[in-house]
Amino acid sequence: MIKSVCGYCGVGCGLEFNKDTLIGDIAYPINEGNLCSKGISELISIDTPTRLLRPLLRESIKDEYKISSWQESIDTIAEKIKQTPKDKIGFYLSGQLLTEDYYIANKLGKGFIGTNNVDTNSRTCMSSAIVAYKKSIGADFVPLRMDDIFKTNLLILAGANTAEAHVVFHNQIKKAKKYGLKVVVIDPRFTDTAKIADIYLPIKVGSDIDFFNLISKRLIDEELYNKEFVANHVNNFELLKNKFKRVPTTKMLKRTGLTSEQFDAFFELYKESKNIITAWTMGLNQSVQGVDKNLALINTHLLSGKIFKEGNGPLSLTGQPNAMGGREVGGLSTSLAVHLGFDAKSIQKVSNFWNTTSINNKVGLTATQMLEANLDVLIICHTDPVYHLPNRNKVEALIARIPMVVEINAYENSQTAKFAHIRLPAAPWGEKEGTQTNLDRTITKQEKLTRTSIECKPDWEIFKLLACGLGYEKEFNYKNPKEIFEEYQQMTKLNDYMDISEASYDELSKKPFIWGEKIKNFLTPDKKGNLFFVENKLLSEKTSLEYPFILLTGRTRDQWHSGTKTNQPTTLLKYKELNFCEINPQDAEYLNIKNGESIKVISSRGELVTKALVTESIRKKTLFIPISNTQVNYLTNDLLDRESLQPDYNHSAVKIQKYIEAHNDLQ
Ligand code: SF4
Repeated sequence: MIKSVCGYCGVGCGLEFNKDTLIGDIAYPINEGNLCSKGISELISIDTPTRLLRPLLRESIKDEYKISSWQESIDTIAEKIKQTPKDKIGFYLSGQLLTEDYYIANKLGKGFIGTNNVDTNSRTCMSSAIVAYKKSIGADFVPLRMDDIFKTNLLILAGANTAEAHVVFHNQIKKAKKYGLKVVVIDPRFTDTAKIADIYLPIKVGSDIDFFNLISKRLIDEELYNKEFVANHVNNFELLKNKFKRVPTTKMLKRTGLTSEQFDAFFELYKESKNIITAWTMGLNQSVQGVDKNLALINTHLLSGKIFKEGNGPLSLTGQPNAMGGREVGGLSTSLAVHLGFDAKSIQKVSNFWNTTSINNKVGLTATQMLEANLDVLIICHTDPVYHLPNRNKVEALIARIPMVVEINAYENSQTAKFAHIRLPAAPWGEKEGTQTNLDRTITKQEKLTRTSIECKPDWEIFKLLACGLGYEKEFNYKNPKEIFEEYQQMTKLNDYMDISEASYDELSKKPFIWGEKIKNFLTPDKKGNLFFVENKLLSEKTSLEYPFILLTGRTRDQWHSGTKTNQPTTLLKYKELNFCEINPQDAEYLNIKNGESIKVISSRGELVTKALVTESIRKKTLFIPISNTQVNYLTNDLLDRESLQPDYNHSAVKIQKYIEAHNDLQ
């Protein structure tokens, strides 16, 4: 029997593999033997007919691909990189990569090629949380763990549909409810998660800052904030208090769309709850004011002192299995490695450690900036930017201009494949080994369960080949992922709070290691948390007479990203339908649209045809389309948060029209 870990989401459920059977690991604390449909189907995804199994190469995206060799492919990429200015090279990584893959790609890009254009698709899901954590508590650090829900009284879920996106964690919430946990769900949609709420608050899209500011203001006005904690451990209180004096409560409440009775009922529960956790995910992060939404939320914990105590704190729910691990090794272009920045001291430390003089001191391009930057070489690894970046028509036009796009992927059916020149077949989950860090800092190990397909390679080996092609044989002389992990362990000593040298690579699948457990205080220079006054500046795309609906996007339970693994005939999953658009019955009636009818959803950027799902679970003038609908980003706007550069996926202005398929025309 081999113990491993699920490679789908940030919960990171433990698995047991026995001959041909995969089950949940009953001894694993996070999932206690439970798995969701994606975890159960991990084995099947290895044998899907859509695996990419050979290196492919072509000169132009108009040509057909030809089968290539690894030697020819790597030589072609290395030659192009040698001829290209450093700032014209980009690495577009993914929260699906293992830590060792991430580490070696980052070391190659930032440490030796000398480009900081090394970023990850986590930019599009978690970067607002990262910036907010850094500003308020001093580091990209999640200050509590999932099992704190068994030690708290109140769990507030804001813009987080755990029933669909973090299924096993959601089941743990249901279990905690049996022991008395109260749950508040704040969401414009009455989701499956809302069904387990003690209080459901259907706030208007984009009003999260107002909602959390209302809590903070009430805490201050009614002198319910933790005076001792604020006096000793928090900065900027007087500033926040004075700013709030000028903020009209009625205006904020009106923007949330809640009645004063609804908010009061919530606040009664809030006041009487000794311990509180607020958890959130894309509903807050994916916004043009994503960082401010996070800061408004964290303010409530700083004011109440409900942080760095058992059963309390702001819990960011990471979507991908190793979004956290990627951040730790420097997978974002805005940090170097082990959470160090681009200041002279940090560069010196990392340069000494890697024995290099090539590190650039300029922050690199983010994933959301790379395509606009006229790059000459873009290496995309285990992710599908053509599908997932917003404003897809623009994305397609931009990526088509890049002279060399390399796609490293285990699957052949990505949307990006149409725009690649070289495609390298990577080993998928089950055919490789390495570590990942889940959403609450637990480092576990994926084990290799079957032989690697003949022409496929684990990602660390692909980056090693490329490094050798560029002449860095000595610096990338790794024989296995264990050597990379152990080098990374040594590197974590460069940043005190990240030291993971006590972890044992060989034991991680059986004995996960939780980093940061000794951190019980803020990581800011003065060891105090920082309050920030933030306001809802209404920066998202405005609706208009022409585009009167706001489009929301989000996960559905059994699907993963674009469905390259999950949306396959061989998965045998009874996955939820993706081809639908939720619409409120009153809007549907006004437009004479019946449930199940074909509609065309149109924004100023593009359109898609789908089916109307008429449901009371969505607010009026709001629509919802699953993010796993591969066409959805033809509609979404490409506004970015100015600090995190994360896209505003949850606020695009659209219109809908009835669509008559037989005649291909509109009514
Ligand atoms: Fe895998 Fe996440 Fe499902 Fe657990 S909850 S089985 S980690 S997809």
